[in-house]
Amino acid sequence: MPEQRLQPASGIDYPMTMQEFDAWFPSEEACAEYLKRLRWPEGFVCPECGGTKQWPTGRQQMRCTACQRQTSVTAGTIFEGTRKPLRVWFQAAWYLTSQKFGGNALGLQRVLGFGSYQTAWSWLHKMRRAMVRPGRDLLSGRVEVDETYVGGREEGMVGRHTEKKAIVVVAIEVREPKGFGRVRLRQVPDVSGDSLVGFIRDVVMSGSVILTDGWKGYDSLPQYGYKREKTVLSSSGDPAHVALPGVHRVASLLKRWILGTHQGAVSNKHLDYYLDEFTFRFNRRISKARGLLFYRLLQQAVRTDPVPYGKLVAR
Ligand SMILES: [Zn+2]
Repeated sequence: MPEQRLQPASGIDYPMTMQEFDAWFPSEEACAEYLKRLRWPEGFVCPECGGTKQWPTGRQQMRCTACQRQTSVTAGTIFEGTRKPLRVWFQAAWYLTSQKFGGNALGLQRVLGFGSYQTAWSWLHKMRRAMVRPGRDLLSGRVEVDETYVGGREEGMVGRHTEKKAIVVVAIEVREPKGFGRVRLRQVPDVSGDSLVGFIRDVVMSGSVILTDGWKGYDSLPQYGYKREKTVLSSSGDPAHVALPGVHRVASLLKRWILGTHQGAVSNKHLDYYLDEFTFRFNRRISKARGLLFYRLLQQAVRTDPVPYGKLVAR
C-alpha cells in the first residue's frame, strides 16, 4: 500500500461494501496486518531507535533487532491498551464512517453489543481525536468566514443553570464558478478580533480573500496579508445567508447534525471534537466511496497518540 499513491483505491486499499469488509477482516491477524500497512507503509520503523528490522514475537508484537525493544502495531496509537479485539474496533470505525451522518454512542453500543454505554462513548471520542490530521493544509482562494451559535439548552424548567450557546467560527472555500470547497470550524470564547482573526490566521493562507460581514472583529485582516471583502447587510433586513451562503449552509447542516444524530446532547466542553467529526465528513462529502472515510480514519488512528479515558472526560 504505497502512501505516495495519490488516491487510495476502492477494493485495493479499502473495502467497498459490508460484504467486502467481512471478507477483508475475518480475523485479528488480518486486522493487525492492515494496521501495519497503514502505520508503516514503507515497512517497519522502530518507534524507539528508528531501526527497520524486526522479528515477530506475537500476533501483534514484534521486537526490533537493533535495540531489542518490543513493540506492537497498536502501541502509541488510539488502540493502545485496548482489551477488545481489533476486529471490533474495525466494526466501530466502519459503523461510524459508512453512514452519511455517522452515529452516536447509543447506536454504537447497540450495534456492537457493548454492555457499557461509557465504552461506546469513549470509543467514539477516541476516533474523533483521529479525524483531524495535524498540520493539514490551509484553506485558500476566496473564503467565507462568519460566526454561528450552536447548542446550549434553553432555560431549565426549575431555573437551573443551563449552558450558554457556543460560538463557532466557520470558514469555507468558495469555488468558481460555483460550489464550495473545504471547511474549518472552531469554537471561540468571544467574537473579538483576537479570536476571529486568530482562527483565520491558523486555517487560511495569507493572501486569500476573506468574505465577511461588517463586524469590526475582522478589521485587522489586511494587517496579516488578507484581502477583506465586506458584504454589509442591507437595511431591509436580508438574512445573513444571502450574503454568505456557504457559511449559512454549513451552520445549518451542523445544527441539524447535532440535533439529529446526537439529539442535541453535545456539551460545549466536548464540542470541539464534534466539530472535528463534522469537518472530517463535510470535507469528504463528495466521495462516492464511503470506504475511503474508513481508510482515512484508520490511517490517522495509527498516527494519533493514545487518549486515556480520564483525559477524554476531563479536558
Ligand atoms: Zn529499535
